[in-house]
Amino acid sequence: MADGQAAGQTILVVGGGISGLTTAVEAAEVGYNVLLVEKSPHFGGRVAQHTKYFPKLCSPTCGLEINYQRIKNNPRIRLMTLAEVLEITGSTGAFTAKIRQNPRFVNQKCTACGDCAKACQTEVANPYNFGMNKVKAIRHDHFMAFPSHYYMDPDFAATDEAKKLVEVCPVGAIEPGMQAVITEEKVASVVWTTGGKPYDAEKILPYGFGRFANVTTNMRLERMADRFGPTGGRIIRPSDGKEAKNVAFIQCAGSRDHNYLPFCSRICCLASMKQATYVRGMYPDSTVTIFYIDLRAMDRYESFQKMVESDPQVRWIKSKPARIDEDPKTGNPIVVGENTLTGVRYEEPFDLVVLATGMEPNSASDAKVPMSNARYDEYGFVVSGRGLFSSGCSSQPSDVSGSVQSSTASALRAIQTAVNAKG
Ligand SMILES: Cc1cc2nc3c(=O)[nH]c(=O)nc-3n(C[C@H](O)[C@H](O)[C@H](O)COP(=O)(O)OP(=O)(O)OC[C@H]3O[C@@H](n4cnc5c(N)ncnc54)[C@H](O)[C@@H]3O)c2cc1C
Repeated sequence: MADGQAAGQTILVVGGGISGLTTAVEAAEVGYNVLLVEKSPHFGGRVAQHTKYFPKLCSPTCGLEINYQRIKNNPRIRLMTLAEVLEITGSTGAFTAKIRQNPRFVNQKCTACGDCAKACQTEVANPYNFGMNKVKAIRHDHFMAFPSHYYMDPDFAATDEAKKLVEVCPVGAIEPGMQAVITEEKVASVVWTTGGKPYDAEKILPYGFGRFANVTTNMRLERMADRFGPTGGRIIRPSDGKEAKNVAFIQCAGSRDHNYLPFCSRICCLASMKQATYVRGMYPDSTVTIFYIDLRAMDRYESFQKMVESDPQVRWIKSKPARIDEDPKTGNPIVVGENTLTGVRYEEPFDLVVLATGMEPNSASDAKVPMSNARYDEYGFVVSGRGLFSSGCSSQPSDVSGSVQSSTASALRAIQTAVNAKG
């Protein structure tokens, strides 16, 4: 695409996970201006929270870093973090987006030296690790955070302690008085990539998440297995900190069930197989049991499943457990149900049970598209059309490679809209 053709055309990308990052670099590298708006303090989305990727079992940080470099080197991409799109008006090819830039309370001079966090006494439950540890009220989320500037919790910014931190910063980056700013941007097309959030496991009452300490979720396990995570990379029982060596995974926890989340999230079987390798790799004498209805490991993922199946310490039980009880003496969760293949009932204790919960589209709740004619499917995923395109987990449940593919497609469709608008 020639530069002249692209002049003045901006594509708005909302959500800075792997899908938004991909859309932004694909559109910008062929000459289009991109405004990438992310709600949280850093880019990367769920992928940044994962310990490893299936099927390669490599760290997601290297894939993210490649995208960050492509963004840093491309002057066509404008970045906004801690920002939300309030309203999109106009029509295809000529939209106006109203955007609120929320305050970071730390300006761009920040070098991420960490002096402020060292001096800060106030600690809060760490949202990045689902509250499994405490962090300072001024921080960045992880060592690869991009942008690498720290941020401050809004409640903390109003305190006297926050004001005192101004003196601690050697480069004058801390601004507790920073205010939100609302701007308007003219954009030709919009790509919605606000992704998904883990299904709220507390709603699945028979499984006791929230009541039983040693019942956890797959996203929490990702953070636990990360050496920069809340347990320093040790997979342990939250109740007593002991090594979790006998671990059960319950597939379709809430998924494909009209009482909870009616659809399949596509990635949970593979995520549990991957997490089985975390447990087995960490403790050679461990055992993993996977309770499943049916296993979904399509195409190239079949060999990944076969690799996990080849481990005799990984057991597969075809069954949807009826409930989880807790042994009050040991804190062991006890999984109760019936083996579908043998008809035999079981009641088995584990050190730790991991609920393989699916993902809900954010666009079904707190990230609805603020556009009067936005369309959604029956589950709340965004339907593309009329200058608005969705990709990754905003369009359907997806793994990373599917998210990247659909985001490249969305970039192209957004470009076509921009070209047509230019006439
Ligand atoms: C437990 C688990 C393990 C997984 N493991 C793997 C794996 O090993 N390999 C693999 O291929 N896939 C894996 N996946 C799937 C992978 O996480 C997704 O494919 C990927 O995160 C999709 O990226 P996304 O950008 O579409 O969405 P997300 O990662 O959800 O990113 C969405 C972004 O949008 C932002 N946002 C939300 N609302 C707004 C708003 N209103 N305005 C602006 N920004 C907003 C969010 O803060 C976030 O940064 C796993 C998923 C789970 C749940």
